[in-house]
Amino acid sequence: MSARELTPENLREILSGSRVLIPLHVAPDGDSIGSALAVASACRHLDSKPTVVSSDPVPTTYSFLPGWEAIRRPERVGGQFDVLLLLDCSSLSRIGRVRELVDRAKPGERPLIAVVDHHRTGETVGDYLWSDAGAAATCEMIFDWMIDQGLPISGGVATALYTGIATDTGFYAFPNTSAGTFRRSAQLVQLGARPHHVHQKVNEERSMAEIRILGRALEKMRVAAGGRVAWTEITRSDLTDTGAGTDDTEGIVNHLRSVAGTELAVIFVEMDTEHTKVSFRSREYLDVAELARNFGGGGHARAAGAKMSGSIAEVRKRVIETGSRQLRLREAGGQGK
Ligand code: 5GP
Ligand code: MN
Repeated sequence: MSARELTPENLREILSGSRVLIPLHVAPDGDSIGSALAVASACRHLDSKPTVVSSDPVPTTYSFLPGWEAIRRPERVGGQFDVLLLLDCSSLSRIGRVRELVDRAKPGERPLIAVVDHHRTGETVGDYLWSDAGAAATCEMIFDWMIDQGLPISGGVATALYTGIATDTGFYAFPNTSAGTFRRSAQLVQLGARPHHVHQKVNEERSMAEIRILGRALEKMRVAAGGRVAWTEITRSDLTDTGAGTDDTEGIVNHLRSVAGTELAVIFVEMDTEHTKVSFRSREYLDVAELARNFGGGGHARAAGAKMSGSIAEVRKRVIETGSRQLRLREAGGQGK
């Protein structure tokens, strides 16, 4: 089944007067949380009943966003839904245990599935799809939709949307940052978002455990492929020793990429003895979304990830080999440096 194009009018119509389930994606980030909170606010102006739900714990970093406290865990959600709105992801595998809420619906009561996403994706799930790989963040798309539809944007919603855009662009530093990103952000600041405040909350309130696990990861950093690959790994014992949780490892991979001469940065995080989370970043030319897809993951050209089965040692070997090979192929093709 292929999805129909989701127009701004469609989205309004679908949400109006409906019970809407809005899941965050697994390992929720600022864009996932910001876009979900903004749509939840829009729903209240459309006489619909939104429920924002997260399979994974929602990072407390974002607790300054109004509505954060109302995000529920799947086990606390009951009842039926007319619409499942996937934001910042395009597949049911990215919403973790929320999928069970959808799967248990009786035939004929299955919610309509609408998708709003800025990831390049091969697959199309759902009944309606609005995909824009040119958007820097899902929050850019939701902002455009709310403006187009004349939906009110409070100071709190402006802050949520601004936060999603700021975090997905590395605070206006990644290549996805465009003039449009700044234009939208400027409007959001006029509507009440405070850049300094968001930066303080997101980047300047780290816990000691987060700093300790960063130190441990940097200490364990290694290189491959003549220095073009920088990688590190975090084991369960690294987490125990430093008192850190897996969500404290977010962002470490960006430090690896900052080493001169590095094209590919990879971090391996041991989830348990059989599962490893891998995050990829590239600097100039390697398509890491393609690399991640080899391992069942995905993402963007310069930032991607995958959750892989296998011990951290097995996963590391496979990924470093494949990554180094793809770098060599890319360079042999003359498209690299
Ligand atoms: P991170 O490495 O920060 O977790 O994720 C970087 C990017 O890759 C994000 O855009 C995220 O959506 C995507 N990503 C991370 N893990 C996965 C995964 O397991 N599957 C897919 N499809 N995308 C992922
Ligand atoms: Mn995003």
